[in-house]
Amino acid sequence: MRRVYFDHSATTPVDHEVVDLMVEYMKDKFGNPGSIHYFGREANKAVNEARESVATLLGATAKEVFFTSGGTESDNIALKGIAYANRKKGNHIITTSIEHHAVLHTCESLEKQGFTVTYLPVDENAMVRIEDVKNAITDQTILISVMFANNEVGTIQPIKEIGQLAKEKGIYFHTDAVQAVGNYPIDVNEYNIDLLSLSGHKLYGPKGIGAIYIRKGVKIEALQQGGSQERKLRPGTENVPGIVGLGKAAEKARLELSERMAHVQALRDKLIKGIQEKIVDIKLNGHPEKRLPGSVNFSFFYIEGESLLLNLDMKGIAASSGSACTSGSLDPSHVLLAMGMTHETAHGSLRLSLGRGNTEADIDYCLEVLPKIVETLRSMSPLNATSKLAPSNPCSNCHH
Ligand SMILES: *Cc1c(COP(=O)(O)O)cnc(C)c1O
Repeated sequence: MRRVYFDHSATTPVDHEVVDLMVEYMKDKFGNPGSIHYFGREANKAVNEARESVATLLGATAKEVFFTSGGTESDNIALKGIAYANRKKGNHIITTSIEHHAVLHTCESLEKQGFTVTYLPVDENAMVRIEDVKNAITDQTILISVMFANNEVGTIQPIKEIGQLAKEKGIYFHTDAVQAVGNYPIDVNEYNIDLLSLSGHKLYGPKGIGAIYIRKGVKIEALQQGGSQERKLRPGTENVPGIVGLGKAAEKARLELSERMAHVQALRDKLIKGIQEKIVDIKLNGHPEKRLPGSVNFSFFYIEGESLLLNLDMKGIAASSGSACTSGSLDPSHVLLAMGMTHETAHGSLRLSLGRGNTEADIDYCLEVLPKIVETLRSMSPLNATSKLAPSNPCSNCHH
């Protein structure tokens, strides 16, 4: 069967050059970077080169890059590390209601430990208002954490303005840039970013490896203790194959960034336009322009995103939905709800996230298959019939 992968926001295919390099560091070049002999030096050199590569992608210096096990760990280190090290200065953190759970649940944990967290609202495009950030700042605020680009709807936040504001107020600024790194140009100095999280498997690298950028001079506490690896911020023998893979992925992302962006954005625009032309009663979710190059998210009224996803899968198209009625979680996405969407509209959402391996033929295939699925599901939908009589009937399939 024809297979089309439109779920790059969940994970990307691993670049084959990355895999080949990693295999070398699992087979022959297996040394511990902490060892003084040849094998150790060989591994240590590779780790340092990878650090240099990640730093260059971000406009940072190698000393400001620390390897972690992924985006989730980087977010935990940023939030807890700053909170613990600066609690004498204040106990207030500002974040947004549309963050990834790696940030939201870490903030909830900090609240239980006595910190106060403000969760900023967003507008209907999932955009944070700079005025809201300004108004939330108190003399207790030690950290602002706003994601660079949203993983569900792709909206790119006013990072530069927030960074500038944080700098003026002497507050640390962290951004979860897991979705943006490798898909969008980022310079930590231009954007006044103090801490940044990234993850290997979202930029054609391996899973289980990530990094955190921490600006020189930032006061942060380590969350675990052990050896002196990663300058004691993240002790434990380095994941050398993962680090080398991330380094290669970062290098390729830097060299191919503009080419990748142009390719993916052209496909995205074709897909958005095609869906808008072929299907009625839909809504494009996320900011119309300020969105990731590969991000497409629509709500299809009267049907469930989950049914759409399953039907697309049967046709070989891999997508994702903002609701999971049938898979345990009854609540629709916190992101879509924060955007002011009704439960009903949120349940009809479908995310198609494109990547560098996608082709025009993939888009054409999707535009052939998707309208038929939507039509079939709508013809069977109780929401379709009842909606005209009772448009506000929420989530009739989901016991809401
Ligand atoms: C995927 C993702 C994460 C988590 O990264 P892992 O490496 O899977 O732990 C965090 N934040 C965002 C925005 C993500 O998309």
